Amino acid sequence: RKRVGILTSGGDSSGMNAAVRAITRYSIYKNCIPYAIFDGYDGLVEGGSKIREYGWENVRGFLAVGGTSIGSARCLIFREREGRLKAAYNLIKNGIDALIIIGGDGSLTGANILRTEWKGLLDELVQKGKLQESECSVLRNNLTIVGLVGSIDNDMSLTDITIGAYTSLHRICESLDSLTSTALSHQRAFVVEVMGRHCGWLALMAAIAVGADWVFLPERPPPTVESTFEDWETEMCNRLLEQRKLGSKKTLVIVCEGAIDRHLKPIKPEYIKQVIDKRCGLDTRVTTLGHVQRGGTPCAFDRILATLQGVQSVEAVLKSTPDTPAPMIGMSQNKITSVPLMKAVELTHAVGKAISEKNFKLAMELRDPDFNA
Ligand code: ATP
Repeated sequence: RKRVGILTSGGDSSGMNAAVRAITRYSIYKNCIPYAIFDGYDGLVEGGSKIREYGWENVRGFLAVGGTSIGSARCLIFREREGRLKAAYNLIKNGIDALIIIGGDGSLTGANILRTEWKGLLDELVQKGKLQESECSVLRNNLTIVGLVGSIDNDMSLTDITIGAYTSLHRICESLDSLTSTALSHQRAFVVEVMGRHCGWLALMAAIAVGADWVFLPERPPPTVESTFEDWETEMCNRLLEQRKLGSKKTLVIVCEGAIDRHLKPIKPEYIKQVIDKRCGLDTRVTTLGHVQRGGTPCAFDRILATLQGVQSVEAVLKSTPDTPAPMIGMSQNKITSVPLMKAVELTHAVGKAISEKNFKLAMELRDPDFNA
């Protein structure tokens, strides 16, 4: 019977628990033995009680719980061979020959490195007398790795969406709606920083969902190439003032935390506030949403996505061969997909996740009085 280790790693995201539940239960259904590995790679390196067989009941109630109940961590030692040697030892001692990792690109890269080094790590453990050859012979040929992308940022290439992104977007929209009420009451301007690091998906989608007046994305450093303005400050202020002239009683500007200008200089909310204060004469406040955006109760979409992908990841474990590259379970055009994990990671590092130009235009130009002209 195949023994399947499950771990969540990197930043938590809502829906990770639904994935752990689906993997646990579908593994049992398929006559495999699921193991929960607690606190990400920390647990894999530490072993002992951090690696536990999981039963059907262990994941009861997991669907509606945000974050990850089996814990996550950023584990420095796993980045070194020494850490991965300990991880390999613990996997062999527990007889685990497949690992399903739910995390971001770093976590999936780490898993793939473990798989690449697998035979060498076992040789070293035998040579050092930590393991008997007989203990690892069955598992020597292959460590199966399957990745699921858990990330609020939706920053991975080769998948349309990642587990947790929509829940985060819901929280952001709720917060922006609350700010809009107070902005309207006092005719204020709000500059709101949202998460996403170098990926503007959350910021862009939030801008569309609440009808923001302006949005700053890392992928579209202003002033954009098509812009007739020398600097984004003038372009933005003109637009904000136009909106006010048209009768708008509030101003909402969204900034992705990794936003930059055309010269690659970071654009910070405080600076935007000063520009709006001074040049538009509006009472302007800055709000940084921070960690509330990580989620809480997962939305229905994330529960469903994580469940479907969790089931698919167990299928991928059962189908895997030593010669096929480790897969990443994603979603494309509303269908669950399987793509080579490292291809997705490499593409993410090389070009980043593509932002839809059409959506960017829509977010910016729906505010433009000439939009329908
Ligand atoms: P998030 O998108 O939330 O940041 P992530 O998975 O990209 O998620 P990282 O902090 O990059 O988050 O990685 C999580 C863990 O994965 C690290 O703490 C480390 O243990 C492991 N890891 C990341 N990169 C590597 C690597 N190149 N080699 C080995 N292990 C790695």
